[in-house]
Amino acid sequence: MIPFTYNAPGSIDEAVATVDPMGPAGQGGAFLAGGTTMLDLMKLTVVSPPSLTDIQKLGLDEIVQEGDQVHLGARVTMAQAAEHPLLRDGAPVLSEALWKAASPQLRNVATLGGNVLQRTRCPYFRDNVSPCNKREPGSGCAAIGGINRLLAVLGTSENCIASYAGDFANALILFDAVVETERPDGGRDIAFDALHLLPQDHPERETVLEDDELITGFRLTVPEWARRSRYIKVRDRESYAFALTSAAVALDMDGDTVREARVAVGGAATVPWRAEAVEDFLAGQALTEEVAMEAGRIAFEGAQGYEHNAFKIPLGQRTVAKALLDVAAIDQTPTGGGSE
Ligand SMILES: Cc1cc2nc3c(=O)[nH]c(=O)nc-3n(C[C@H](O)[C@H](O)[C@H](O)COP(=O)(O)OP(=O)(O)OC[C@H]3O[C@@H](n4cnc5c(N)ncnc54)[C@H](O)[C@@H]3O)c2cc1C
Repeated sequence: MIPFTYNAPGSIDEAVATVDPMGPAGQGGAFLAGGTTMLDLMKLTVVSPPSLTDIQKLGLDEIVQEGDQVHLGARVTMAQAAEHPLLRDGAPVLSEALWKAASPQLRNVATLGGNVLQRTRCPYFRDNVSPCNKREPGSGCAAIGGINRLLAVLGTSENCIASYAGDFANALILFDAVVETERPDGGRDIAFDALHLLPQDHPERETVLEDDELITGFRLTVPEWARRSRYIKVRDRESYAFALTSAAVALDMDGDTVREARVAVGGAATVPWRAEAVEDFLAGQALTEEVAMEAGRIAFEGAQGYEHNAFKIPLGQRTVAKALLDVAAIDQTPTGGGSE
């Protein structure tokens, strides 16, 4: 690991003033939350910020209901959020996406802010040797012609097919969440679905955040019917693995007919991926197995498979279909756990 300076300021104002986006030699400092992505990448020398601004003393660690909205502090841990009744009972898709991520040890320290900003697990990004436009702009993409089994089929570009690895963001995107941020010259709200950038010509730019912009929290409106929601994750082993494909689904149903659907796809895209065409297709439809399969097909329209990852297209289609059918069945099979 390359030497760096460490600060742990006691206020948000101090933190955004301290992070030092210019840094020595033009390389910027960075915020440190749970450190489970950041320190990993620093040890691999994939990133080498000259300074870390630890946000552990800033509070930002509460979940509160504000009217019809839920507010999640950026430093809430994954474990804390997963077991909170507002998520666990009010929108199980959010809770399940967190429970199915990483390991208990990681979930106890990793934060929601750090989770949505986690970097790709593309092996060519992480090896710090191969050409990678995300790590070293203009160097090329070793993944496109390489071992790309785990990488994306949706939202790719000729410059990058790195998949977005997180689970929680694919559930959060269902609820029109807003990202609240602070900078030295003031804060702003960013629509969550506008936070991450497609790779296109600049894979190195992953979000719209400025270097000195701190995420302080997330606001989301969780409708009553979001109790009928699920996160299905398909992976190589049933625990402690990133998604090959996943689907986040919430349904407002009138009997067997869908009033409103919210659907997102994970594991297979370069950014958190809301499937709006699927939502439009489902509105007003009776949710049969045939309709669910067609929804899965629509979710992957335009997908591009590469040598080793084309299997994600049929797998992802079936993941979406299964999630829809599972969620549609929830009101017919109450669990007794109080969610219906
Ligand atoms: C072995 C392993 C398995 C994993 N499996 C999964 C999985 O299955 N599913 C999944 O979703 N994730 C998985 N993860 C990823 C893990 O969930 C993330 O590493 C974690 O959520 C990051 O949170 P953190 O608080 O540790 O962030 P950090 O590592 O501290 O920060 C991550 C990034 O976010 C920035 N940052 C952090 N907080 C803020 C803020 N408030 N404002 C602005 N910038 C900020 C940092 O500067 C850094 O760039 C796994 C990780 C490991 C190591």
